[in-house]
Formats: sequence, structure tokens, C-alpha cells
Amino acid sequence: MSELRELYQSVILDHNKRPRNFGTPGDANRHADGYNPLCGDKLSVHVTLADGVVKDVGFEGQGCAISKASASLMTEAVKGRPAAEAETLFRAFHGLVTSDPRGEPDTRGLGKLAVFGGVREFPIRVKCATLCWHTLRAALASGGVVSTE
Ligand code: ZN
Repeated sequence: MSELRELYQSVILDHNKRPRNFGTPGDANRHADGYNPLCGDKLSVHVTLADGVVKDVGFEGQGCAISKASASLMTEAVKGRPAAEAETLFRAFHGLVTSDPRGEPDTRGLGKLAVFGGVREFPIRVKCATLCWHTLRAALASGGVVSTE
């Protein structure tokens, strides 16, 4: 288990150091800003939405390692997928990070996003990990500003 944990940590550190899809796609047509006052994480998510599909997605902003790595892995996970699938992923992800740490983590369908399973042991970090997802949802819905508080 500790080896797995180390692997998870190295994925998070890598995405924090070299965030994927950092920036704004040139043809982005949706965006929202997210803020987590508890930690100070601030990010913007930009989406190119066409025919109900997330054709492209990027993010900008500043925050802790968890919030940045989560945004980076989220953009990889939802790029090219229908918005409805992004919503399904959000629910699975949210379910994972808010589940009881004493039980087995349910990582079905989450792929690489499963690396955030350890976050459920640190409730204060859950908002860091989910901020980008709340912001993505806001961008897909209508845009605007979301806060975790
Ligand atoms: Zn944070």
C-alpha cells in the first residue's frame, strides 16, 4: 500500500510541477472562475464547447499542489469527452474524495484520477481537489464565479 501511495504522490507532484493544459485554448467559448478561500486556491477554467463535447479545455491560476495537480489531471480526463461524461466523472470523483477513509476506495471509471483517493483522509484538502471540478461545471453550465465556501 505504501508503494501505491508513493506512486500516487509522484503523479500529483509531477502534475503540480508540470501542469498539463495550462493556459487558455485559443477558441475557448466558456469560462468560470473558482476560489477556495480556505486554502487560497484560485483558478479559471476555459472550455471550448462544441456540440455538447469538451473539444478543448485549459486552466490558469494559482494554488496548492493538490489544486493544481487536480486541475491538470481533470483537463486530461475530460478533454474530448461529452459534457455529460464530464459530469459523470465529477460525481465519481466527488464520491471518492468524500468517502469514508475507513472503507475501500471506489475508483471505478476514474482512471488516473484515482490518485486523489488519499485526499479523503484530509477533509480540509477535499475542497482543494474539487475546486477545479466545481469550476468546470460552472463553465459548462453558464460561466461565472464559484466559491467552495
Ligand atoms: Zn489548496
